[in-house]
Amino acid sequence: METIQSYKCPCCGDALTFLGEKLHCESCGNDFALEDMQHLNEAEGKANSASKYDWEHYEPRSYEDNSEIDLANYNCPSCGAEITGDDTLGSTVCPYCGQSTIVKGQFEGTLRPDYIIPFKIDKKAALAYFEQDAKKAPFLPDAFKNKKKIEEMAGVYVPFWMFDCDCNASISYDAQRITRWSDSNYDYSKTDYYTLFRSGRVGFTNIPVDGSKKADDAYMEAVEPYNYEDAVEFSGVYLAGYLADKYDVSAQESIDRANERVTNSTISLFSSTTAGYDIVMPKNSSVNFSNGKIRYSLLPVWMLNIKYMDKMYSFAINGQTGKVVGEYPIDNGKKWSYFAKTAAIIYGAAAAIAWFLLH
Ligand SMILES: [Zn+2]
Ligand SMILES: [Zn+2]
Repeated sequence: METIQSYKCPCCGDALTFLGEKLHCESCGNDFALEDMQHLNEAEGKANSASKYDWEHYEPRSYEDNSEIDLANYNCPSCGAEITGDDTLGSTVCPYCGQSTIVKGQFEGTLRPDYIIPFKIDKKAALAYFEQDAKKAPFLPDAFKNKKKIEEMAGVYVPFWMFDCDCNASISYDAQRITRWSDSNYDYSKTDYYTLFRSGRVGFTNIPVDGSKKADDAYMEAVEPYNYEDAVEFSGVYLAGYLADKYDVSAQESIDRANERVTNSTISLFSSTTAGYDIVMPKNSSVNFSNGKIRYSLLPVWMLNIKYMDKMYSFAINGQTGKVVGEYPIDNGKKWSYFAKTAAIIYGAAAAIAWFLLH
């Protein structure tokens, strides 16, 4: 006897029976073509399968002293940051906590990055970007306009893991399209139900994941994007005049974040192809990566910390594009004096009008 593949109704879940040329549902009365049901089963099987991520193993390379530049190690006595940098740097306030001056020590060797995006914006330009950005903040405390303070800004190469991969994904959705109309007696609404299936391949290059515990992840993601066309093979000469942090979050530890970023980007890219329905609900998804490559890169960031009312306000400026990230506090004293003056002007104007009307 021939075994028959049993199909479930995609609308109500009941078993379908073969009737005439079609698969028929006794419960809800819908008919389906056999070919459509075969496609649907295959698609849902794919979307239901477990996601697999295939990343290569990253082998750290050690820094060989090839006299490109003299490096030193710097330590922050306040927050414990350990930073490598140009040996000739003068005293520099810790770019991570802004609390104290970092102390220079012997260069102890570090891990060699694969790529670097050199600073494109010098300190003068970075200061100008910051001052321009600060103008949009109302009632900004004077500490944020103090030239001497904002000149403590330090150029830091922040370690990032860069991930490349090919992503194959299958996602299924339940969707609805609702049509409404009226005649003189009634309002009508008709809902059409759809099962959508999207499958495709997306290539990702240079997905950055911050490799430093000291650098705030949210800040580092906000300071993106970087233009990776400017990335060059690492050479120590690019560090002249700057600090360079070394990673303390391993490639392996960063993989979860990379998986999350690739998966979320793929899901939102696929969702953008489901326009034209009133309701779209993702049902099943599977995301698989292959050819995953990991590289260690340094990206340029200007960092500044300003203390106000016992709280440290941190700013990061993209050293390639000048994008400024950070929050500004409000000086309440300035705010109230502004309102008091405005109120006085309005009161004064009202009094003048009253005088004019009375005379
Ligand atoms: Zn049914
Ligand atoms: Zn520090």
